Amino acid sequence: MQARLVADQKIEDKNFAIILAIFTIIFAILIAATEPFLSAAWGAGKKPIQQGQNLKLVNNSPEETKKRSREMKQESTKYELPALPYDYNELEPYYDQETLRLHHDKHHAAYVKELNLTEEKLAEARNTGDYALIRHLERTLAFNGSGHILHSIFWTNMAPNPEGRLRTPSGALADQITRDFGSFEAFKKQFSAAAISVEGSGWTILGWMPEFGKLLVLEVENHQNQTLWGIKPLLVVDVWEHAYYLRYQNRRAEWIENWWYLVNWDDVAKRFEQARR
Ligand code: FE
Repeated sequence: MQARLVADQKIEDKNFAIILAIFTIIFAILIAATEPFLSAAWGAGKKPIQQGQNLKLVNNSPEETKKRSREMKQESTKYELPALPYDYNELEPYYDQETLRLHHDKHHAAYVKELNLTEEKLAEARNTGDYALIRHLERTLAFNGSGHILHSIFWTNMAPNPEGRLRTPSGALADQITRDFGSFEAFKKQFSAAAISVEGSGWTILGWMPEFGKLLVLEVENHQNQTLWGIKPLLVVDVWEHAYYLRYQNRRAEWIENWWYLVNWDDVAKRFEQARR
């Protein structure tokens, strides 16, 4: 009798284990089958991600964003105001030292400062994904970047002229000028006419155009308008009023006439040689 009871108990345990296993399998199948519906129901209560939303921004605290911006600022190249290759008074009497000092230390310095600021703001925009000011920033990049480049060339394009004699180019540069403009005098007339006629603020540039294989004169407005892609500036003259007004007032033609005495043709020739490589 005792043995039969033990045998019955074993059968019941075995049946219970089988039933438990069947229930477990059914439960697992049910979970797997309903998982997509459960996920959809769960997700319906969440705020959807907007188009263009930066996930990194959502995860970053304002402090983290500022810290990353500072790091990126340090990583980016800082533009610097180049030193003048002569003293303030060395370009007299053609270029007065007051104007030269203001022009270099204030005006050019401001373009460098704004260029660095623009680069910082662009780095910040990339980091935060906020491009609300992109049109403004791209404009200030072109304006201040071109201003920095042209002023840097302008300073080295000039050299003191204590002898007071008009200087002219020589060698390959002189040959190329004759080839492309007919003569040095013809080039000088075209360049001066362009400089005098710049509307408002701007520059006149002699540049080497690699794609065309020739020298060209450009009449640039502000620092960045009316250029030709790919041209390499060799000789530039600033005809913004800040460049000459203290001494020459509204007499821009007189400024141009005197500026020719300062042209450093050795620097122009060196730039021509580098541009043609
Ligand atoms: Fe200037």
